[in-house]
Amino acid sequence: MKEGGCWNEEIETMDRGDLDALVDERVRYTVRYAHEHSPFYRKWFAAHRIDPASVTCHEDLLELPVVSGGTIREHQPPNTPEFEFLSVDWKEVYTIHETSGTSGIPKSFFLTWDDWLRYAEKYSRAFAMEGLAPGDRIVVCASYGMNVGANTMTLAAHAMGLAVIPEGKCTFPVRVIKNYRPTAIVGSVFKLLRLARRLSDEGIAPKESGVRRLVVGGESFAEEARTHLEQVWGCPVYNTYGSTEGTMCGECNVKAGLHCPEDLVHIDLYDPAMERFVGDGEEGRLVLTTLLPVGEKAGTLLINYDTEDNSRVVTRDRCACGRTHMKIEPPWRDAETVVVQGCAINRVDIERAVFQPGNMGSITGEYEAFVYGDEEETILRVSMECIDPATADQAAVKRLFLNALFREKPELSEIYEEGRLSVIFNFTPPGGLELAAIKGRPKRIVDRR
Ligand SMILES: [Zn+2]
Repeated sequence: MKEGGCWNEEIETMDRGDLDALVDERVRYTVRYAHEHSPFYRKWFAAHRIDPASVTCHEDLLELPVVSGGTIREHQPPNTPEFEFLSVDWKEVYTIHETSGTSGIPKSFFLTWDDWLRYAEKYSRAFAMEGLAPGDRIVVCASYGMNVGANTMTLAAHAMGLAVIPEGKCTFPVRVIKNYRPTAIVGSVFKLLRLARRLSDEGIAPKESGVRRLVVGGESFAEEARTHLEQVWGCPVYNTYGSTEGTMCGECNVKAGLHCPEDLVHIDLYDPAMERFVGDGEEGRLVLTTLLPVGEKAGTLLINYDTEDNSRVVTRDRCACGRTHMKIEPPWRDAETVVVQGCAINRVDIERAVFQPGNMGSITGEYEAFVYGDEEETILRVSMECIDPATADQAAVKRLFLNALFREKPELSEIYEEGRLSVIFNFTPPGGLELAAIKGRPKRIVDRR
């Protein structure tokens, strides 16, 4: 297999017509399986007067209702005596997972061994397209446990001949890098930047550490942040998107969208405000349908499930890498978007403005943003961590930040010119941000109105 080549060439490069035929065969089987094995879907088909046999192709899914995380919660204890999304006998269940999302109330998720193998297949494809190959040693900094990501990667690594160093977090001792010379690390943008600073502090140049691939999982990021991370480590950085529900998409070396494993998960985009599915190129919520190969089983099966992540179809044409599976934009979350006088600002918009190349001599990239005020007068306060506040060119950082933000969001520029938006900057020494004191996933854009 050549670097960045296909893990499953026959499937990943299948012509659109053949791929659609395979998808449709799996749609029919999955819907039939749901009707026979999922108590929730059996009732759902009846309640919506859907004849499962009438669902014969992926286009038919667009006629069916959308279910949400809330639907799963409503059909599990304590709301119902049984887990109504559970679609196998208990003796087939291998692991049980919970995802809490933003509501804090966990959704239960059941996986059979078949599910794990299909998840691993998806990650093997992602790792292969990201250039990982037998003999690579990979530090997995994603957490093991109720999230499936780290275990899925570990299983994929077994299939691919990669050695795994299952650290589970990015704060592992520097000797791990020195002694095992890992060639790849899975982590988040900021944790990988922090790790690079730790290595530098101990006299190891990240570029000379032997790491040749970085894989960022579970978050969208600005291209500017990727460029900076690539410069710091001197190697390519790839994005992946995955969730317990089974979307596992990876980025090939073209780096223009994430390939979805279309034979294993079907994705449509949905506009919840309009209550309609949208076309390619339009923004919408990722709505997924599990695709079961004929004869296989699933612990939890989902049809038209709203992931609450937003994206857009980039293309369904054959990619320069040879793959035919559709590409989507890295998904973004509503929870990370604030609306300022009608203009939506996502975390990634702020991140793009922070990570301007000209800024990176003065700041570390760590930032947090707060929104105050009201609809007439809004204040955006941006705090950035400096390498050394005494020598940082703060005026230049402010200028580059505002230029980049307004280039991306011209409507924000108008609000600013009219005096209805002020932007206040705060520069801190390392460790000086509010989020540095908070445990768990940091919130980088906080609405304090
Ligand atoms: Zn590609």
